[in-house]
Amino acid sequence: MITSHMNGFVQEASGQAKSHRERAVDCPGDESSLVKAPHSGSSAQMERIQHYQEELRKRREEEGGRGKHDIDPNASLRLKKLSQNPKVGIDNPTFDSKEKPTKDALTLDPLADLEEWLTALKWAQHCLTDAQSQQDVELTMQLLSKEDFRNAFTIYSAVSLQRSKVSPNSPLTAQAEDLCLEVQKILQSSQQKEGLELKALLTNPQFQALMQAHDCVAGQEMPEENVTQYVGETVKLVRLEKARDTPLGATVRNDMDSVVVSRVVKGGAAESSGLLSEGDEILEINGVSIRGKHVNEVHDLLQQMHGTLTFLLIPSSQIKPAPHRQTVMHVRAYFDYDPSDDPFVPCRELGLSFQKGDILHVISQDDPNWWQAYRDGDEDNQPLAGLIPGKSFQQQRETLKKTITDRTREQQGKIWSAKKNKKQRKKNATVFSKTTDLEDILTYEEMSLYHQPANRKRPIALIGPTNSGHDELRRRLLSIEPEKFAVAVPHTTRTSRIHERNGREYHFVSRPAFEADLGTGKYIESGEYGKNLYGTSTDSVRHVINSGRICMLSLHTRSLQVLRSSNLKPYVIFIAPPSQERLRTLLATEGKTPKPEELKEVIEKAREMEHNFGHFFDATIVNMDPEPAFYELRRLIEKLDTEPQWVPTSWLC
Ligand code: 5GP
Repeated sequence: MITSHMNGFVQEASGQAKSHRERAVDCPGDESSLVKAPHSGSSAQMERIQHYQEELRKRREEEGGRGKHDIDPNASLRLKKLSQNPKVGIDNPTFDSKEKPTKDALTLDPLADLEEWLTALKWAQHCLTDAQSQQDVELTMQLLSKEDFRNAFTIYSAVSLQRSKVSPNSPLTAQAEDLCLEVQKILQSSQQKEGLELKALLTNPQFQALMQAHDCVAGQEMPEENVTQYVGETVKLVRLEKARDTPLGATVRNDMDSVVVSRVVKGGAAESSGLLSEGDEILEINGVSIRGKHVNEVHDLLQQMHGTLTFLLIPSSQIKPAPHRQTVMHVRAYFDYDPSDDPFVPCRELGLSFQKGDILHVISQDDPNWWQAYRDGDEDNQPLAGLIPGKSFQQQRETLKKTITDRTREQQGKIWSAKKNKKQRKKNATVFSKTTDLEDILTYEEMSLYHQPANRKRPIALIGPTNSGHDELRRRLLSIEPEKFAVAVPHTTRTSRIHERNGREYHFVSRPAFEADLGTGKYIESGEYGKNLYGTSTDSVRHVINSGRICMLSLHTRSLQVLRSSNLKPYVIFIAPPSQERLRTLLATEGKTPKPEELKEVIEKAREMEHNFGHFFDATIVNMDPEPAFYELRRLIEKLDTEPQWVPTSWLC
């Protein structure tokens, strides 16, 4: 059900959109069904606003005369809160009674200001050389000197002074011209002296030009798509432009019979306007009453609406934290995520799918369980951020999943092996507690951009199953440009051969020395061959880096973890084999005739490597053809010189 909270998740096992608590009020891709919604007349709207306010007032009065338990259970929860405490919900974000009005909003002596402007204009006129500009300034000065204008300005200042207490920081409207026309219409039949005077003032071309200029400036100051008016203390009227290419980006939830803004998503019109906030109760949209509606109905209604949307809201009573600039966190995902397959996502339409290895830009962690993020490269064509599971939340549910799986296995084990001895059971218990260690669960790794310095090139690690061609590619690079590429000289415990020199083919070391270094983690990889130990040390790799050349490594996947924690900043390229048939042809050109099961094994091994270690790969080359593969390898290596790359932030600390 939509009203359920975090702990209600488990019951929401159905994969249907209905089971989600929040509903996106609109989503990208909905445009086809957008229809311009009729606009409600402003006077009717005012009447309804008064009605809502009257309702609130009555509730407060009633509250004085009856106990808390008498509150109508069918009434809006927000209204109830308001009725319990008249102060709650009086949330005019632009007004703080303790705040001193700013100088801009407060003109104590408007005529003195006018005199100041006149002096400034005279001075400006004096400085101007061309006749046209001088004439323009002259006209403006004449306007400022006119009795009518001065009177109007005095009134305007007085009104501003009043209004500044309500909204001193932003223009109240960008439609002053329209308002003047509306007032003129009302005054048409007026024969009263004041009415006639006001009519003359409003029809004055200079005054009209002033209003036009005002609207022009106000339009620039206000976010393009919205106009806000605050009417009264408890109800907020918000106008938003629902453009074709900018989704509204908000979700709603049901709270008793109320419809409440549940989440404001970055990148949508709601967020950029700053006018809709989490917790605001929606009373009306374009004159359509919302209270009592199911969120799905609200969603359907908004699908039909396009253009200017007028929301009537009871502002959230939550104290808004001071707006702070969110820092973007860049992460690499270590798991695949598909929101359509996640019964926990609060709003499926806003879920962001990603794959293991993707770079995600996390722009909001306001909700620790559901972060808002963009996939790298998607920011320009996807204005709205998507929801992804937060790190701890993901770790917790993965732990839970593992625990359940382990328990099921344990249960099954008990059934078919009732004889299991105590010792074995104890062993299983240790495994079990190990799997529940949160930090063992890979979710996201924080990443930063890193541009390799010209004199310290990142080592390139080529990974791939035997016969995928990674060794051939490495050999080719080394033979073509030996001054640019080099290998790390390995260590061995075997004795040197006649032509070999210590430090050239190998570093010849004793077995105890090799083993001691192995114990202290000095080797990226090692192996035993013919009773001798062989291995590549981090020092050998560092030696190549310090020489200014690019160290080419050909590694087994099990070495990746060590390599990554070595501070050598490797760039890992996975060389994937092509299809079985293509692989057979390629190997035939090298004179190899593998059996079909051997070919299959190469492909399966590659799949396994990708599955288990894919998140460590910086790039993948499918070796369809040696030539394009070699070209691609060079291109990727050159890119490290020209473009910064994402690396774990921990590498840069
Ligand atoms: P050799 O003693 O004939 O030079 O090499 C014997 C084997 O040791 C070869 O198969 C070679 O692949 C392996 N080998 C050489 N260097 C290394 C190394 O750094 N690490 C590992 N694991 N094996 C190596």
